[in-house]
Amino acid sequence: MAAFMNPAWNGQFSCFDLVAKTEERSRTVVRVRDIEIGGSEVVVMAGPCAVESERQLLETAEAVAEAGARVLRGGAYKPRSSPYAFQGLGIEGLKLLRKAQDETGLAIVTEVLSEKDVDQIAEYADIMQVGARSMENYALLDSLGRCGRPVLLKRGMVATLEELLRSAQIIALAGNPHIILCERGIRTFETATRNTLDISAIPVLKTVSHLPVIADPSHAAGVRCLVPMLARAAVAVGADGLIVEVHPSPEKALSDGDQSLTFREFRSMMDDLQPYLAIEQEARQLRPQLLALAGAD
Ligand code: PEP
Ligand code: MN
Repeated sequence: MAAFMNPAWNGQFSCFDLVAKTEERSRTVVRVRDIEIGGSEVVVMAGPCAVESERQLLETAEAVAEAGARVLRGGAYKPRSSPYAFQGLGIEGLKLLRKAQDETGLAIVTEVLSEKDVDQIAEYADIMQVGARSMENYALLDSLGRCGRPVLLKRGMVATLEELLRSAQIIALAGNPHIILCERGIRTFETATRNTLDISAIPVLKTVSHLPVIADPSHAAGVRCLVPMLARAAVAVGADGLIVEVHPSPEKALSDGDQSLTFREFRSMMDDLQPYLAIEQEARQLRPQLLALAGAD
């Protein structure tokens, strides 16, 4: 989304020179297999919060691929708030992700918690996810700068956009410019939702940075009934993609069941998104001409 630049943002963000938008560099398209993130298509990533079993993952992968997702999400290493909660299947989970990829052709995004796991996860993942809790893990960011894979960098739940871009700059400085930013909701005083989707973060980031920006309505909402509406809102303000949690039986999910969509709900979210995607795609094609006419970029 090409909102016009607020002069105050210039000084605030331009110091992160590798990720800030400039006249020479207004847009980065991150290429993952045959998918372009930050291009003309809004890319949907979907799957379970955690990889739990072969059946759970393969069924979900098939369902989300059929509904139009291009990337399969699924945590093999889980950052759980409680030490007693399911921590993920580790390497076994990575192998299941590979199997799901072989069967569906979906690209894979999965979280990396520690710099020690970067090399192993890079063998299986097309996109390396940095979770909200790890956004300021500088050792991890630094090693992701050398991993040779695109990075999905989630905004910390108490991080400003300046801090998010600072973390992106660290990855870029270490040698990796293939970064996708993700707004996943921030902590506010509101308790009706798990987090508050900071909808304005999307156009601000799209204005001040050349990196693609996606939204995670699932972790923002914390409740599944809000996910389709937040997804629509994110598309309407220019998100380059979405990452959404889907589970065959959310009530039995080992993590984040309350916010996970059933297959049917995901399909209907995708169907309902179509008119919004069509409008957004048209706007993206027209935008460069409109900006040229307005004499701005
Ligand atoms: C997740 O994607 O399952 C996750 C843990 O997300 P976040 O880091 O945004 O909380
Ligand atoms: Mn989750």
